Amino acid sequence: ATQYDVVIIGAGAAGLMCALTAGYAGRSVLVIDHANKPGKKILMSGGGRCNFTNMATTPANFFSANPHFCISALKRYRPEHFVELVERHGLEYVEKAPGQLFCAGSAKDLLHILLTECDWAGVDIRLKTSVEQLTQHGEGMRLATSMGSIEAGAVVIASGGLSIPTMGATGFGYDIARQFGLEVTETRAALVPFTLTSQWKARAEALAGVSTEVQVRCRDGQYREPMLFTHRGVSGPAMLQISSYWLPGDELDINLLPGEDALAALTSARQTTPRRRLSTWLGERFPKRLAQSLVEWQGHDGVLAECSNATLAEWAETLNQWRLKPAGTEGWRTAEVTMGGVCTSAISSKTFEVQGLPQLRFIGEVLDVTGELGGYNFQWAWASAVACGQSL
Ligand code: FAD
Repeated sequence: ATQYDVVIIGAGAAGLMCALTAGYAGRSVLVIDHANKPGKKILMSGGGRCNFTNMATTPANFFSANPHFCISALKRYRPEHFVELVERHGLEYVEKAPGQLFCAGSAKDLLHILLTECDWAGVDIRLKTSVEQLTQHGEGMRLATSMGSIEAGAVVIASGGLSIPTMGATGFGYDIARQFGLEVTETRAALVPFTLTSQWKARAEALAGVSTEVQVRCRDGQYREPMLFTHRGVSGPAMLQISSYWLPGDELDINLLPGEDALAALTSARQTTPRRRLSTWLGERFPKRLAQSLVEWQGHDGVLAECSNATLAEWAETLNQWRLKPAGTEGWRTAEVTMGGVCTSAISSKTFEVQGLPQLRFIGEVLDVTGELGGYNFQWAWASAVACGQSL
């Protein structure tokens, strides 16, 4: 059998970062991926420009059954460290929203940096290779792969989550976890658009492409970000973010006028500009198509002077407390991440080894650690990979 100190399964963000870290530390490293290309999700991320980190990353930006698990790795490998790496390679990047760094050119440039570093660190990468069996072998592990048998001092599972199956996502990491007696917390699609049915689907469809800033709440979550109407329902950063809190059957509480008390504003407008039409008032606050739609949905327009207190109160409720019940989400097909995953309780937060089986490790999205939208998921991939790679 071929022998390596470290075999990493998954040539994605976490796998490549772990590989180059362990390679520089002097380990012989092989990365295996069943896909025909490495880093496919890096390439498709951030609309092709990869939001590769968030400078304001803190443990509070992550969901996990064990919120403390991510602290150590995030503290050790910070966004500045990753920025330092890409700057060394001359990557040009832009801060699109506060803290969110994207490639100025293409995500390809970022992937190229990782692959160059892997090359310099002497890492071998085998694509189109699947792992049929993974077994404990003395102090190490043995892998039966489509390219023959491999022996490894340690195996790192970096096979990611379930989102975008067409990009190669599989439940491989969860199966391996269960095989070795680890728990896997329930998984669900997150950072995913919502679908609507019947009347609301038609209404959203008519507004497809229109975006407006909202404050959305669901359970313990709330975000103030743009919301986007789509052919299937609602999306945009606000909806993607809140999808991490949403469970089937929940309603979303959407404030279409964040920061403005609609009742107070309408009442005062009725006094100061009584001849003004409601639709004009709405037109100053919303994109034209949305203002028109609101009037249609509400079934009411007219000059402000003719609006009763009850009418204004109804309008204010629609604007400040619109309750929308999604039919579901678009699911794995378009979700950016997987909520849940390999339970961290039996995994070291410093080395990412399985307790009692140090030759087996899990890093990146396959773990039950999920970031918010905004570059946090990649920061977790880098940080967990470096902590693991340094300890191999
Ligand atoms: P992945 O990058 O998914 O890598 C896993 C690798 O394992 C893949 O190469 C896969 O082919 C391989 N693999 C899977 N199963 C097997 C198997 N059975 N055998 C062999 N190999 C296997 N996050 C951000 O922070 N910023 C963004 O801008 C952003 N945009 C995104 C946009 C989209 C459309 C999507 C889907 C995700 C986005 N994310 C973003 C999330 C981010 O891409 C992931 O969190 C991150 O890639 C996880 O890294 P990973 O290495 O753990 O897994």
